Amino acid sequence: MIIIIGNGISGVTAARNIRKRSADPITIISAESKYFFSRTALMYVYMGHMKFEHIQPYENHFWEDNKIDLLHAKVDSIDTSSNSITMVNGDQFSYSKLILATGSKPNKFGWKGQDAKRVGGLYSKQDLEYAEKYSVGLKTAVIIGGGLIGIELAEMFLSRNIKVHFLVREKYFWNGVLPNQDSSFIMDHISKHHGLIMHYENELDEIMTNENNEAIAIKTKLGETIECQFVGLTAGVSPNISLLKSSGIETNRGIMINCHFETSAKDVYAIGDCAEFRDPVPGRRPIEQVWYTGKIMGELIAKNVTGERCEYTPGQWFNSAKFFDIEYQTYGNVLSTLPEGQEEFVYKHDKNEILLHFVFEKESRKFIGINNFGIRMRHLVFNEWLITDATIEDVLLDLKSANFDPEFHTKYEDDMIKQFNAKFNTQLVSNKPKWWQNILAK
Ligand SMILES: Cc1cc2nc3c(=O)[nH]c(=O)nc-3n(C[C@H](O)[C@H](O)[C@H](O)COP(=O)(O)OP(=O)(O)OC[C@H]3O[C@@H](n4cnc5c(N)ncnc54)[C@H](O)[C@@H]3O)c2cc1C
Repeated sequence: MIIIIGNGISGVTAARNIRKRSADPITIISAESKYFFSRTALMYVYMGHMKFEHIQPYENHFWEDNKIDLLHAKVDSIDTSSNSITMVNGDQFSYSKLILATGSKPNKFGWKGQDAKRVGGLYSKQDLEYAEKYSVGLKTAVIIGGGLIGIELAEMFLSRNIKVHFLVREKYFWNGVLPNQDSSFIMDHISKHHGLIMHYENELDEIMTNENNEAIAIKTKLGETIECQFVGLTAGVSPNISLLKSSGIETNRGIMINCHFETSAKDVYAIGDCAEFRDPVPGRRPIEQVWYTGKIMGELIAKNVTGERCEYTPGQWFNSAKFFDIEYQTYGNVLSTLPEGQEEFVYKHDKNEILLHFVFEKESRKFIGINNFGIRMRHLVFNEWLITDATIEDVLLDLKSANFDPEFHTKYEDDMIKQFNAKFNTQLVSNKPKWWQNILAK
């Protein structure tokens, strides 16, 4: 029996793809929910855009139809010497192959009061239910940690007219990932939201509680006290490896794997947020905690456990998110600090809240990546530019090819080229869309 621990995007993609290739019995185990759901859409359930069942991509009968057993229970331990796992209730199961897809867990840093009532995160279905429960009568919430999940939680609370204090340790928002210009742009946008009070360069010191062990206020490291009835902890996530403690399987920050997803134990594999590559693909991080990489890993592990040995080849990096009303996409590598030998061009249209941040090699002019905010760009086109080593000039001259919004180039593109020419002393004149036509012709 192939056992998969974790029914997130990585685990279920693995199961679905193994089933396409093999008739072996498959069991997916999850402590969180029986059925797979889209974690990225949790916020929309809270905001009333969808019901929970709408974020379950498969009908409940899908699993039985495909002979994939689901077990809603918690695994307590793994014994690699006998190829078996033990559940919290004592049940034991043997595996021929074991795939660990246990995801992430929210970071907590030992703050006083972090485990009190009215303190929650935004990761699991249970977190959503918890936030829902304590939102009744909630007037003020404090969110700790300036990242994508924090901003989602803030948007959720604001949608119910709950006042939100947001503590960000850094001077700039999400500055571990975004360059300063991009962070500032997002900060300007965030600051327009009524009811959201940002506290930059400020940290949580402790969560104060009442006699019922409920959060009633927080103290910051700058000595302020902020009264609240809920504290949201969103200070990043780490691989969820607690299950592996006594297993002997090698871990670092995550479960150590090679490019075939093999752990240090025979017949045991790890994929998705919980996995850490010993030798990451050049230009990529050892731990990748995003949806699409979990999906790719799920597809590839299916090949590896059914006899077709293949390596992790994720292609060019990309990601997308939303900061309130501003959509963000990134293609290629735009680092928070510009590395030596690279050059950048930032185009900003204040009135319409659009920013494009291009990065390229100084010498060769090779295009390295883009962050774009407030406007959608075609993944396919940027991917093509990245794999064909297009130059920054190629990209700018043909930006129309990448544009989703037909109004975009008529409004801004000439202005962008003009600014580029002025900054880099070039004389570019925009082309007709070229790459897009080439791609369509393929
Ligand atoms: C609120 C939120 C918004 C996000 N938005 C985006 C986004 O917009 N774009 C993007 O790319 N990524 C986003 N992410 C990240 C993305 O959701 C994750 O990278 C992805 O879901 C990880 O999938 P996974 O299958 O590796 O693990 P998970 O989805 O975490 O699944 C792991 C499962 O394993 C179970 N499990 C763990 N240990 C045990 C055990 N001992 N016994 C039984 N079950 C166990 C857990 O309960 C869980 O159900 C977001 C994440 C969150 C929390």
